Amino acid sequence: MKIISINCGSSSLKFSLFEMQNKEVLASGLFERIGIEGSCYTIKYNGNKLKEEVLMENHTDAVGILLEKLISLEIIHSLEEIDGIGHRVVHGGTKYKEAVLIDDKVIEYVDEMKEFAPLHNPAGLLGINAFKEVLPKVPMVAVFDTAFHQTMDEVSYLYAVPYEWYEKHGVRKYGFHGTSHRYITKKISEEFGRDDLKIISCHLGNGGSITAIKDGKCIDTSMGFTPLAGIVMGTRSGDIDPSIIPYIMEKEGLNASEVVDALNKKSGYLGLSGKYTDSRDIEDGYKSGDKRCILTEEKFIKSVVGYIANYYVLLGGADVICFAGGIGENSPEARMMIAEKLACLGIKLDVEKNNVRGKFQKISTEDSKTALYIVPTDEELMIAMDTVALINR
Ligand code: ADP
Repeated sequence: MKIISINCGSSSLKFSLFEMQNKEVLASGLFERIGIEGSCYTIKYNGNKLKEEVLMENHTDAVGILLEKLISLEIIHSLEEIDGIGHRVVHGGTKYKEAVLIDDKVIEYVDEMKEFAPLHNPAGLLGINAFKEVLPKVPMVAVFDTAFHQTMDEVSYLYAVPYEWYEKHGVRKYGFHGTSHRYITKKISEEFGRDDLKIISCHLGNGGSITAIKDGKCIDTSMGFTPLAGIVMGTRSGDIDPSIIPYIMEKEGLNASEVVDALNKKSGYLGLSGKYTDSRDIEDGYKSGDKRCILTEEKFIKSVVGYIANYYVLLGGADVICFAGGIGENSPEARMMIAEKLACLGIKLDVEKNNVRGKFQKISTEDSKTALYIVPTDEELMIAMDTVALINR
């Protein structure tokens, strides 16, 4: 069974084609600058990499080229081999608690939810509509970033603001990165052979979130109404006092959306360091004694440890703390700094085992009170697995 997993941005389309029998990636790639001058695509297959610049006016053009290339590069022999397409959709609101087969009603709801995810949901729809046009008979599935977090109770998902804001306007915590946290939960449950576990899942990438999981279900997560909340990120501030917004509007002569834009795109590592968004640059600066990089790294670690501590208490202890995402999987230094601050909980990092990148591995000592794991996340595979499950249902 072959499944394509799709993740669309407003001008990009990322894909992975899986053979689901052995979960092998047959091809993967990225179509970039769609609708912008200089549009190009990269396809990796069978140890080869093809990169070409080609005019793509819209996502339908990209999908047409993708399917044509899958055949001309002999990755598949006919389009009939494609059994299903899974689409990443950021916001599923409160309606979708798990993945769904896409029909017109789903498309309509995803469109309605663009109010909550104005950049992401329209991008998801571009991919859905493009495949609908080119492969109308192939079943498609929507996998939502918010779905895994739908099990939070109202004590976790409500803000202490006028209750009507929730009733009238849907102001609540939705949470994001759910597909990644769900994949991590699945891998850890497989490793332990049971799912009655207390897990703190740290997805630390350019965007980052931390989730508390009990018996396989999310009970709280650090991102909120939007992905701006929670820990310090590459360019996002994470939690701040909202009174800063009108204050800066007045002081800098900005409107509300300009300030929120700065909180999303000019804050976090970039805002604090004044120069870098990439954690590798921050870590290099930290090691060479750059004061602002030291401040940035320490602020990041403090925010991560703060959420871990919060969720450790919420869960009543933790069996496992996992690290995923670009930083979580690849930065032994960040994991070490986090673990050092958790020593008061009887958590002990095995420094040697921690010295690894991108590998599923236990990195705590045998006598650590909570196990620490690196779990390379795979949202694309999770989307493909959801697609198979729904097609076979
Ligand atoms: P996104 O949220 O865009 O998916 P990623 O999960 O790819 O982000 O994570 C990007 C972050 O991971 C960047 O800050 C990058 O510096 C960091 N990262 C990637 N590889 C390494 C590495 N080898 N060492 C330290 N950090 C890394």
